[in-house]
Amino acid sequence: MIYRGRYAPSPTGPLHLGNARTALLAWLDARAHDGKLVMRVEDIDTPRVVKGAEEEQLSDLRWLGLDWDEGPDVGGPHGPYRQSNRYERYEAALSTLRGMGRLFPCVCSRKDLQRLASAPHVGEEGPAYPGTCRDRFSSDEEARAAAGRAPALRFRVTSGKASFDDRVLGSIAQDVERDVGDFVLRRADGLYAYQLAVVVDDGEMGITHVVRADDLATSTPRQVMLLRTLGHAVPSYAHVPLLNGPDAARLQKREPRHTLRGLRDAGIKPESVVGWLAHSIGLVETTTPVRPSELVRDFRLGPLVSRPRWDLFPVT
Ligand code: GLU
Repeated sequence: MIYRGRYAPSPTGPLHLGNARTALLAWLDARAHDGKLVMRVEDIDTPRVVKGAEEEQLSDLRWLGLDWDEGPDVGGPHGPYRQSNRYERYEAALSTLRGMGRLFPCVCSRKDLQRLASAPHVGEEGPAYPGTCRDRFSSDEEARAAAGRAPALRFRVTSGKASFDDRVLGSIAQDVERDVGDFVLRRADGLYAYQLAVVVDDGEMGITHVVRADDLATSTPRQVMLLRTLGHAVPSYAHVPLLNGPDAARLQKREPRHTLRGLRDAGIKPESVVGWLAHSIGLVETTTPVRPSELVRDFRLGPLVSRPRWDLFPVT
């Protein structure tokens, strides 16, 4: 069996424990399958990229005990592994879609389109696109002239439902046409949308297995649609539970006790962090310190139970 997995952090700050748990699971799944793991740096949302964050994230993942077979720091046959070095590939995919009549310019307000370069999180996406510009312009130039500014580019959704079998969540189907509508692939300011970049990269890097947090499950039907349209194989998906903070709120990269860097600086051992993370997702019974490599043999993605015990957390 060929297994090519990936972990795809956005270098927008330090990795928090939720990111670390997802990375651990992606790594374990790849290693348990004797597979390859690709490290891909998702830095297309340039205004949100923090200088030095990539180096820090990769260093913290190695500190935790993870490694990868391909990536910006180790190279590999499917590079470049940094999205900011892959723009011509995204442009080529847009040309392909244009040739298929699946791309159209849209001049709807910038505010509506702002967030699209980062992966969306639960509840972040607005209402379905009403189709305003779908058949409005015969070219990008016409759209630009009418609006007095550059248009965004949207993918024309022509079939309603997309579905996939998730290894954790089971069968998921979404009526993309009704619930999302034609979605943005390139913003008016020229930034490529997360949905485009992730599809081109997963497709062109030959990714067979995606393990990522379940707040991205609602993006997957769109990605499946786009992968198929571009002629790529659709990977197998496993959306794993998002780790929430002690008060059930989202973890913050600003809270040093919840970031790998903060814990590392506080002198906590990586094995203690891995033990807690593995316990928090039900892989092991106790929070006993452990190295990731020691978890490979018994690893099974199966039913994961998120039961973070913050009272047993290495630093309180
Ligand atoms: N770069 C995304 C994030 O950090 C993950 C995207 C993905 O795994 O598809 O939220």
